[in-house]
Amino acid sequence: MREGNPLEGWYQVVRLASGLWMLAEPGYRGCPVSYLVAGSSRALLVDAGTGIGPLAEVVRSLVRLPVVAVATHVHWDRLGGLWPGLRLYVDRRERERLAEVMPEDPRRLLGGDSLTRALPQGFDPDRWWRQLPALDIHEIAEGQVLDLGDRRLAVWETPGHTAGSLSLWEAREGWLFTGDTFHLGCVRCGEEAGGMRALASSWRRLASVRGETTLLLPGRGTAPLSSHILERVERAAQQLEATGTGGDFGDFAVILS
Ligand SMILES: [Zn+2]
Repeated sequence: MREGNPLEGWYQVVRLASGLWMLAEPGYRGCPVSYLVAGSSRALLVDAGTGIGPLAEVVRSLVRLPVVAVATHVHWDRLGGLWPGLRLYVDRRERERLAEVMPEDPRRLLGGDSLTRALPQGFDPDRWWRQLPALDIHEIAEGQVLDLGDRRLAVWETPGHTAGSLSLWEAREGWLFTGDTFHLGCVRCGEEAGGMRALASSWRRLASVRGETTLLLPGRGTAPLSSHILERVERAAQQLEATGTGGDFGDFAVILS
């Protein structure tokens, strides 16, 4: 790659399949992961990461299609790379929180042990996003489909991490996008989002397609994951349901936050 190519910078870009890329940020704590899915008529950005790297440039270097975005939920590290005028699909409960997604002092998000590699050249913390750009926001809900032409992603409401957390299921390909509803490491379960029982129910839902899943695509950490882990996710869900508290399941865990 030539010098200055955005692909060489902040993002680890991996083509997982024809028309599917992972855009990981290993330089940030917990490694947020976004995905780009290309269909015959448009492409879908699944989450938009921290905004530390030039996400729009990376996306434009990968596809020439019109691009729309979906936020699996509203936490700042899902939205940072969104650019002005982009159409964003989001759950209605999450939409209400969009205005307050960035803390008053974003610089503190770069402090402590949050960075595990140098910031990209040209990144200016003082010019980093403080509020979202003007977006074309559309609410989505359970049962709707994000239609990309020859690829269709079903919207599943999978509360637990947040009240309006979504997962996406591309049945023909067997791609399951889970956001922060499931990933390796520590999943944070929100009390106001329904707590452990909501998360357990969402995990059961994810596990229900384990036989058809070819790529399990979490929103942070190691990705992609083998669908085999969904058998353990199902057993973990039973334990969460029974105890109503968090648990440590080896390479993944849940805490109430
Ligand atoms: Zn989150």
